[in-house]
Amino acid sequence: MSSPIRFSEQSVRALQDPRLREALRRATEDLREKWTRATAELPHFDALRDWAKRIKAHALLHLDHYLERLEAKVRERGGMVHWARDAEEACRVVVEICRRAGARTAVKSKSMLTEEIGLNRALLRAGIRVVETDLGEFVVQLDGDRPSHLIAPIIHKRREEVAALFSRHLGTPPDAPVEVLTRAARVHLRQAFLTADVGITGANFLVAETGSVVLVENEGNARLVTSLPRVHIAMAGVEKVIPRLRDLAVFLPVLVRSATGQKLSSYVSVLTGPRRPGDRGGPEEFHLVLVDNRRTAILADPDLREALQCLRCGACLNACPVYERVGGHTYGWVYGGPIGAVLTPKLLGLGRATELPYASTLCGACREVCPVRIDIPRMLVHLRAQAAASGGARPVERLGMRLLGWILRSPARYRFSGRLARIAQQLVWGDRPIRALPGPLWAWTRMRDFPRLAPQTFRERWRRWRTPGRRS
Ligand code: SF4
Repeated sequence: MSSPIRFSEQSVRALQDPRLREALRRATEDLREKWTRATAELPHFDALRDWAKRIKAHALLHLDHYLERLEAKVRERGGMVHWARDAEEACRVVVEICRRAGARTAVKSKSMLTEEIGLNRALLRAGIRVVETDLGEFVVQLDGDRPSHLIAPIIHKRREEVAALFSRHLGTPPDAPVEVLTRAARVHLRQAFLTADVGITGANFLVAETGSVVLVENEGNARLVTSLPRVHIAMAGVEKVIPRLRDLAVFLPVLVRSATGQKLSSYVSVLTGPRRPGDRGGPEEFHLVLVDNRRTAILADPDLREALQCLRCGACLNACPVYERVGGHTYGWVYGGPIGAVLTPKLLGLGRATELPYASTLCGACREVCPVRIDIPRMLVHLRAQAAASGGARPVERLGMRLLGWILRSPARYRFSGRLARIAQQLVWGDRPIRALPGPLWAWTRMRDFPRLAPQTFRERWRRWRTPGRRS
């Protein structure tokens, strides 16, 4: 088994990096403001969210039907459909398509799924050069780094760091402004677009009715990836399918407003099969790779299947007070933030990601902003229960919870323990604030005081209040 994700250790490191904290604070604040403005502008935003959720839930409930329909439609329009059970098989399929096409170079647009399955490594091992063309992903690739946000992969980097990186790799001045950096990237990437044999994309949606792949983006790179190379390979998790083309009228406004605070993204491409006679552009071959990689196992779990409704908009990351302080790398894998804390344990196994369900204050901010109202806190609690049941909790926590359960099961024990705690409080701290708890509870008071127990319980006060002549 690969090593477990050490969220608590990583988060301590992240919290000690003031530059990272400042970069995250600025970026998430900006995205939250945009979200607030964009969603307030759309009076029926909440109704659209409910509608989007209903469509997603329906599509997942009838996933077999819609996937078969999608496959039939893609084939009808001249495309090829490949099914992959896991990451290894998905990479093998793509490498094989590239080999058959005699490809030496591939260009890629942003795709979390390809990160999840480690596609770039597999292509490199097969001798195929792969170039990321989304600006953020391009920076990540150049730096040998990892993306740290679903839609803003370099949210953790400052402009100066990118300028230094470009200076080393692309020869721009070390203090180049953003315009110079983007121009340099454009020149570099244009060459890659023109010489690539294969273009690889993810998919925001797959439309079962028409067999179309829908790509939502702002840079136009996905459009070039899908139109210049001879072969287009679209990769998508099986959960991306939606029933009809007109469902996009529901999804696009909620997705784009939630992701970037725009009314609509600069580019929305609806791609249906390869180039046909008479078409002036487009790839000669089109392949759709449908990847399971444990998604059907999530679907089979009634408590967690809601996670498959995720549109990967990133709004829950921007809203999360934990993500804002520690950033995406701390979550140890491809998916960070609240939805990552649910997906990673399911995709990698709870044994490797036992700490992630605890990486949340359960404040509910993620649920409030989610365009499909995914109840992430409920799922995190469910995963915590699973982690505890499988022995994931520390012995002291297990003992504490068992003791608490024993006390809460009996009103007499509850009353008695309350009285005992108040006596202990008086004996140890008197009337002073509780600045440090004893033993393993010390960590809780490292950063804050422990709230003092009230001198009387509510019941005692109530009894007193109801006793004639004793209300005070
Ligand atoms: S869980 Fe909701 S808010 Fe978070 S990325 Fe997915 S769709 Fe967006």
